Amino acid sequence: MKACLLRAPAPVEKNPLEFADTPKPVPKNGEVLVHVNFCGVCRTDLHVVEGELPPRKSPVIPGHQAVGVVEALGPDTHRFSVGARIGIPWLHSADQTCEYCRAGMENLCDHPTFTGYTVDGGYSEYAVAPEAFVYSIPENFSDEQSAPLLCAGIIGFRSLRLSGIKPGGRLAFYGFGAAAHVAIQVARHWGVEVYAATRGSKHQKLALQLGAAWAGEASAEPPAKLDAAIIFAPAGELVPAALKSLKKGGVLVLGGIHMSPIPSFDYNLLYQERVIRSVANNTRQDGEDFLRIAAEIPIHSQVNMFPLKEANRALNDLKSDLINGAAVLDCRQ
Ligand SMILES: [Zn+2]
Ligand SMILES: [Zn+2]
Repeated sequence: MKACLLRAPAPVEKNPLEFADTPKPVPKNGEVLVHVNFCGVCRTDLHVVEGELPPRKSPVIPGHQAVGVVEALGPDTHRFSVGARIGIPWLHSADQTCEYCRAGMENLCDHPTFTGYTVDGGYSEYAVAPEAFVYSIPENFSDEQSAPLLCAGIIGFRSLRLSGIKPGGRLAFYGFGAAAHVAIQVARHWGVEVYAATRGSKHQKLALQLGAAWAGEASAEPPAKLDAAIIFAPAGELVPAALKSLKKGGVLVLGGIHMSPIPSFDYNLLYQERVIRSVANNTRQDGEDFLRIAAEIPIHSQVNMFPLKEANRALNDLKSDLINGAAVLDCRQ
């Protein structure tokens, strides 16, 4: 099969992904083999490819928003029939035995595997995944529309949940990429007033089109005090700015897996019971809940399509802020 292999992390400007022939994976116990049609491109892929996340497998096939069709079942695999349309997300597996899994926090599992990082992912014609950790794709989404929902959508949704935002509340997004452009649709559906602080007029325009009450530069102060804010940009310097925009008791959620160092700031920015918290992965319940709501709304993703063999270009465009909405690879050969 054709796949994009990362042999060693390097800046994406050096085009480190090699489009190559590699053996088709064989599904093991409890696993499905998926013929991948599309795979979303996530900022985490950029962190894997550039080595901001330490390498865990080499070579590795990145990608953790793969949508396709079940082509074969491993032994003892019963959840799906051949031909079922499914999505493979970031959390490839959790041990289901550690203290976190037993407490319903499998997103914090002590022994997780991650798609496209510790195991091969979806920048590929085929991928395998445990049947217990993949999602059925709601019928009203096309394959390419559903790909960005699998991480950008689900992590954005978990970030919204952790922000504690209520209907009628005021919420800001710092950074307006794939996750925010989906999360704003959920927030608006809940009757939340959304503010978008993001660099570039293109992203600001998209935010306004999707119903933001205000859009400005990432460093600009929103014109109202906020109940909550979510930083999706991997930029630690936004933390003091976002704290400054919060009401007393407001919640700041850090939505990324990696962030540049957070500068020191005056305690007054945090005092009055403001809260900062990170988001790590998601539970399967988050994913199921989000996909149900996404189908109800329904969410529309703005998709920027690239052929699989041009995955390096997709990552370069993501790094250079040229993607408005979500990048998706067409993995059909
Ligand atoms: Zn666990
Ligand atoms: Zn992701």
